Amino acid sequence: QTIKEDTSLPSGKNIFEVSVNTLNVRSKADLTSKTIGQVNKGDQFAVINSNHNWVQVELKNGDKGWLYSFYGTFSSSATTGTEKENGTITILYNGTNLRSDSTTSSEVVTRADAGTTFPVAEKTNDWYKVMVGDQTAYVASWVVSASSTTSNVKKDPENKVKTDKKKADRKKGTLKGLTIVVDAGHGGNDRGTTGALGTDEKDITLMTSELLSSKLQAAGANVILTRESDEYVDLRKRVSIGHQVDADAFISLHYDAIDNSSIRGFTTYYMHSYQKELATYVHNGLGNMISLKDRGTQPGDYLVLRENKQKAILIELGYLSNASEERNVTTQNYREQATHGIYNGIINYFNAQLD
Ligand SMILES: [Zn+2]
Repeated sequence: QTIKEDTSLPSGKNIFEVSVNTLNVRSKADLTSKTIGQVNKGDQFAVINSNHNWVQVELKNGDKGWLYSFYGTFSSSATTGTEKENGTITILYNGTNLRSDSTTSSEVVTRADAGTTFPVAEKTNDWYKVMVGDQTAYVASWVVSASSTTSNVKKDPENKVKTDKKKADRKKGTLKGLTIVVDAGHGGNDRGTTGALGTDEKDITLMTSELLSSKLQAAGANVILTRESDEYVDLRKRVSIGHQVDADAFISLHYDAIDNSSIRGFTTYYMHSYQKELATYVHNGLGNMISLKDRGTQPGDYLVLRENKQKAILIELGYLSNASEERNVTTQNYREQATHGIYNGIINYFNAQLD
């Protein structure tokens, strides 16, 4: 695969700052390439090159590597201290609570509706301290979009026009112009389910997501991952990433478990009627590629579906509580087949939208 340079790097913005706790450094601009190191929140690097959602940076030891740019921000020069946290945040949901302290149990000071903007006084962990008139209040970072964390997905009018134009230019058989969020279930302290033979769900959802995203990217999609390393990401934050980038599809990947070890099979969930058609297409695509028992598509009241305004689906790719199924679905071969099936379903779905 040839790496085509493009102009996605904001002009004059040559510093990249990591905004998640850990971010993998890859040997190439591809999630399946080798991890050559890790960098941490607040680390800043000079950008050497960019390629789609990736930036090439020089590490402190002089090595060069690629970082997935969705997990950081660009600036024109290195900044230090609290200065960089200043900016504004915009509320994503109507009726969002602003609180007296940075915990979900503290008193609600006031509520704000989607689109309301507040100046940021400081950021502490996952909360923003904002100015409401001459008072301060706290709002959770996963229910807002911050001007300092969305630099590469800013919804300026110019960008919107570009997106619409891209959609008009879409051709069958490609995913050019589409933004797809791939959500690897669980992560960090949340291990998900543990298989009969000891597999952690969080590990194989991540591997499956990486494989799916490289297939989607190869077909021209703009792919955003809700996580690309073993870290905890709040469910609401996952949903708000989809809203922030105005995703055309949101694909959440999971592996199942139940206390009856004889139960096997794969299931595709949706919640809202506008998510059902995508679920059907993807489920059929999967069914054509894998030999697991077909448990059908079903409505499922999961937060990442329920709170999602986008076409979101959640796929359970087999039961880890069944030892023989666990053995099967944890193989590289299974992940290849399954992601190929999901990919086919996505392509077929978007092709059908062009009819
Ligand atoms: Zn799960």
